[in-house]
This record gives sequence, structure tokens and C-alpha cells, in this order.
Amino acid sequence: MSFEPINPPQRLLMGPGPINADPRVLRAMSAQLVGQYDPAMTGYMNETMELYRGVFRTRNQQTMLVDGTSRAGIEAALVSLIEPGDRVLVPVFGRFGHLLREIAERCGAEVHVIEAEWGTVFSTDAIAAAIAEVRPKVLAIVHGDTSTTVAQPLDEIGALCAANDVILYADATASLGGNRFETDAWGVDVVTAGLQKCLGGPSGSAPITLSPRAVDLINSRKSIEAGIRSEGDVASAHPIRSNYFDLAMIMDYWGPKRLNHHTEATSALYGARECARLLVDEGIPEAVERHRLHGDAMATGLTAMGLTLFGDQKHKMNNVVGVEIPDGIDGDGARAAMLNDYGIEIGTSFGPLHGRVWRIGTMGYNARRDTVLLTLAALEQVLRRGGVTVTAGSGVGAALDMYASA
Ligand SMILES: *Cc1c(COP(=O)(O)O)cnc(C)c1O
Repeated sequence: MSFEPINPPQRLLMGPGPINADPRVLRAMSAQLVGQYDPAMTGYMNETMELYRGVFRTRNQQTMLVDGTSRAGIEAALVSLIEPGDRVLVPVFGRFGHLLREIAERCGAEVHVIEAEWGTVFSTDAIAAAIAEVRPKVLAIVHGDTSTTVAQPLDEIGALCAANDVILYADATASLGGNRFETDAWGVDVVTAGLQKCLGGPSGSAPITLSPRAVDLINSRKSIEAGIRSEGDVASAHPIRSNYFDLAMIMDYWGPKRLNHHTEATSALYGARECARLLVDEGIPEAVERHRLHGDAMATGLTAMGLTLFGDQKHKMNNVVGVEIPDGIDGDGARAAMLNDYGIEIGTSFGPLHGRVWRIGTMGYNARRDTVLLTLAALEQVLRRGGVTVTAGSGVGAALDMYASA
């Protein structure tokens, strides 16, 4: 049997992520490897830390990468913070909130969940009441949940958690870089992300930042492996229950001690560094504004075609829009037509929204005018062939009008 070289079809990825990687990120990832402790490599690691402080809007020293997809960052954060028996509060407003609950449960936490209907977010009062009732050690919450296309406001939650001695963890995988996110100003203790949404890279690296408060908690659980332990190193009585995701050891690897843990995924680091470099170079507020502009143009175009947007639009994420599948249209059939006829991927939905809502993304490298106009033009044809009455050119025209007045 013989196999062909990898040569994927040309696709324009306009779903909820992953999206097409910025070609500059792909080029960075094809650079040659260097040794793990080569000064060039440790230099890149330090630069990556500094660049992600810019992206996360933080001065946290402990800002680095966890090797693995976004979920690796989530798991590293939760397993390093949570000891079996700890109380954890998880407000769930979409699929990824359920994931936080599931991981916290696997860490042995006593998990308390409050739920909001998909498409809505929690009021600060609802979260405050739950904190008062549960008295958790950790509050774990998603910022932007791509499954429902809305983002939970977190600007008041950090102060609330600090006042109640609660560690605040947020999953910003889907929102970081494309929506305002202020780690320090909002007082979020631990934030994790991934590359394949607004950061414009491939999945496989999970940026993370940790406040000094979170670092102290995690370091109190430190156990250094036999073989690299020095005299005087004491093992914690409550070690972190994962070796690979032990953030105490990962911080020692990224810090001046350079204590060996895993071998940093070099090509992934090159990519992650380039993602952050591009964003910081553009300016974070500018990148957020770019996502707002193209997200609004997409939403305006869809509405002008007669479609109905899903979810609380006041809290809509900039980078993804949910749109109700019109009556009489087979949602998956239409998605297949978009892919086969135009090479454009749009997203389906999970759980209660499956078959009801498509999700269309405008994020990272694909938050652009040409991608918005192409997607609207193609979708119009797919809808018309499916029997939906759409005024010719309505979506593209409305988006163009919006760009003209922007
Ligand atoms: C997309 C997304 C993830 C993805 O996790 P991966 O491990 O990279 O697949 C996690 N959390 C949220 C909120 C997301 O939107």
C-alpha cells in the first residue's frame, strides 16, 4: 500500500473553530528544532511568556504554555488548584461549562452547579448568591462559550471572588484576542486559552496565566520528582494528582531553575509565539475591534437575508454568531453544500441546539471582509436552492453597507 503526502483540500473555515491558521504562524512552525536548553530555545520561551502577558493583559510572572489543546490548559489549571474534597462552583451556560464540571469532578471536587438557559448569561447577583451559599474554594467559569455564542461578563466577578477568598478560574479559549479580556483589571486568578480560535493558530498549545495567589496555592502542593530533587526539597502531603499537568513542576521548567519536566513542544511553541507576536503587534484593542467589525458585518448580513440570530445579542461574542436554521432547510445538508460547492465550513451545534442553529465564526486570520462577503454570498445560494426566499444580494449588500459606514 502506498500513501500520498498530506495535501488537504482548500477550505475556508468559518465555523466556531478551528479556523485557518495565519500563514505566518504555519511558517514559524516549520522552522528547525533546537535543543531543549539551547539559549535560543529558553530565549523563545521567555519571549513567549512576555508576549502572552500582553495577550492576557496581565503582569503575572507565571504566564506560559501547557502543551496540548485548550482542554489540556483547563485540566492543568483545575487539577493543580483542586484537592479531593474541595468545594468548586461551576456556573454552566453551555457545553464547555459542563466540561469544567466534569473535569472538576474527576479531580475529586465537591462540585456545585448553577445553570442558565443556553443563549443567556448569569447576572452578577446570581453568581454572588451562589458563592454565598456554596462557599467554594474555586469558581470555574467559561468566558465565551462557543456552543451558545454568548460571553459571560466577568468584570465584576474577580472582585467578588477576592472578597470571598475564592480562586477564580476562567476558560477564555474561544474569546481571548477577539473580545475584551482583562486578566488583571478583572482580577481573574487563572486563565487558559488555545490557539485555534481568535489567536489564529492550530490547536495544540494552551496559553495559561496564573496570579500570585494561585501560584502560592499551587506551589504549596509541590512535589519534585525523584531523580531531579535537590536536598531540602520536601514532597507535599497533597500532591497534584497529575504528573503531566502539574503546574508547580511546569512553572519550575519555565522559570530560572529550568527543572526538567516534559520536552517543550518546540514547533507548537514557535506557532504559539507567532500567534501572540502578531496580536501584540496589531494591538489587542485593535484586534478586538477587528473581530467586532467583521462579526457585526456577518450578523448584519445574515439578518438582512431574513435569518434570525440565536441568543442574547447583548452578550454575543464578537467572533461567532448563532443563526436559526430556516424552516424547511436540512441544516446538515446545507452545511454539506457549503463545503462541497464552495469549500466553506460553517458549524453545527451541540446538544439542545443541534438541528436548530448554525454557528458561523469570524475569528483570528478569518476575521476579514473578504471571508465575510464570500460566506454570505455562498449561503444565499445554498438557501435559495433549498427553497428559502432570499432577496438576491441582500446579505452581501447589507454587509458592504456596514463596512462603508464603519
Ligand atoms: C473551542 C473551545 C475549547 C476547545 O478545547 P480543545 O481542547 O482545544 O478542543 C475549550 N473551551 C471553550 C470555551 C471553547 O470554545
